[in-house]
Amino acid sequence: MTGQRRAVDRDRSPAADADPTPPPTAATAFLGGPDGNAAYADAIDRARDVLLESFATAEGPYAGTDHGALRERLADLEVVPDDGSSIEDALETVADDVLADSVRVHDPGCVAHLHCPPTVPALAAELLLSGTNQSMDSFDQAPAASVLEERVVDACCDLFDYPTGADGVFTGGGTESNFLGLLLARDWYCERRFDRDVQTEGLGPEAVSDLRLLCSDAAHFTAEQAAHHLGLGEDAVVSVPTDGDRRIDLEALDATLERLEADGRHPFAIVATAGTTDFGSIDPLAALADRAADRDLWLHVDAAYGGACAISDRLRPKLEGIDRADSIAVDFHKLFYQPISCGAFLLRDGDRYRHLERNAAYLNPERDDAAGVPNLVSKSTRTTRRFDALKPFVTFNALGRTGVADCVEYVCELADAVADEIRADPALELCCDPELSAVVFRYRPDDESGSGPDSSSTAAAVDRVNRAIRDELLADGEAILARTEVDGTAALKLTLLNPRTTLSDLRGVLEAVVDRGEALETDREVIDSA
Ligand SMILES: *Cc1c(COP(=O)(O)O)cnc(C)c1O
Repeated sequence: MTGQRRAVDRDRSPAADADPTPPPTAATAFLGGPDGNAAYADAIDRARDVLLESFATAEGPYAGTDHGALRERLADLEVVPDDGSSIEDALETVADDVLADSVRVHDPGCVAHLHCPPTVPALAAELLLSGTNQSMDSFDQAPAASVLEERVVDACCDLFDYPTGADGVFTGGGTESNFLGLLLARDWYCERRFDRDVQTEGLGPEAVSDLRLLCSDAAHFTAEQAAHHLGLGEDAVVSVPTDGDRRIDLEALDATLERLEADGRHPFAIVATAGTTDFGSIDPLAALADRAADRDLWLHVDAAYGGACAISDRLRPKLEGIDRADSIAVDFHKLFYQPISCGAFLLRDGDRYRHLERNAAYLNPERDDAAGVPNLVSKSTRTTRRFDALKPFVTFNALGRTGVADCVEYVCELADAVADEIRADPALELCCDPELSAVVFRYRPDDESGSGPDSSSTAAAVDRVNRAIRDELLADGEAILARTEVDGTAALKLTLLNPRTTLSDLRGVLEAVVDRGEALETDREVIDSA
């Protein structure tokens, strides 16, 4: 610019009269000026009061309202009114129509899913990360946040004993982390075996028809989903049977690998599970790492659930061999007690991120890479991304590693204790010894002789009564149990995550199950028609 141009008198420029005026809402509806900041403090205080009030007045884990009634009621809500009323009114509507019919994840009767009560420090962190709204896709949108995420990822790599050079990124959860692991596995394998750069050239015919990935029959459905999304198709997933402890059967795995190779297929990855969603079972990771090394396959460990064992000196040996995995998925929004969403993907050899490399002129030009500027967008399948790494950082600093480990250890002990209760109750059948904090069991109808369902009509009765127990407890808002199937027959599941839940709370849940089961049995019609 020349000095002359800088000297332009802006007050007299024609545009001065046409200065756009900020809308009146801007003053109080956005953080920044004193009015906006005061409005923020007021709104957050109100939201907090509404939340605590809803917790204080609620009873049990759920009000029990069914989806039809909720659709009907919420159909009356105006979503985009022309004129707003006030934050007060808006929050009151939320309190009445949403919070009142939300699941109370902190209630001891809420034991269905890997759906945790969040830690208080993490909730404080949520406030900071949403208030500052940093976006992790470029350094100039998240300077300290980018560097802190790098530090948190490094600490996670250390937790799993990964070597120097490991890398990773925060994700929206296990689904995304598993996808990322299998994406890199696929592209790494195609480069090595077929000399093909999938990022630019796409999949070759040999990949489309012959790539196979192996996992146990207890693996999470996201392995199949990823195969679909990766253009391999769900048929590319070869399911290997599990043993009595619901861990991948190694002999069956070896036989499957040999058969696939003899058929000219290309097994490229093994997905091991450290903490299956139903049973918490952990595949033999060291033995799987041996197989992967022998055959030059990628080992991805889905530790969405069981990864939390790494925090505890006592539980950590369960993950032996995980440090040899090529990649790991770990969820913080499950057994690490972080609010949704919060997960991480970890990569043993960070150089393999080259398969995802991407530079955009507007976001992360190559010259930034040369200067060492953090480039997290090239490690993720997302662009705009939340600063979720702040939540475990604040939680670990507030509670300490041992504080979190105590909670994880406690819920695993609780699972063993409740399994003992189930074993001791003739009306109940334990389906599998708990490995972590999930307990799968069934109500056993009276006319059963005690050895599990042995005829198809008995099995059908077991199905009906167990499904009805789960449905009724939810509809009455008494307890939220999960339903699943074990070897083709319906079962119930308790997933224990809440460190404030006691064995006595859980005895109450089991009693409710047995009471319902008995009532349903006397009312045969319900069972027969369900
Ligand atoms: C929960 C879970 C997933 C899916 O993770 P999200 O965080 O729900 O995306 C994958 N694998 C296992 C073993 C899980 O428990």
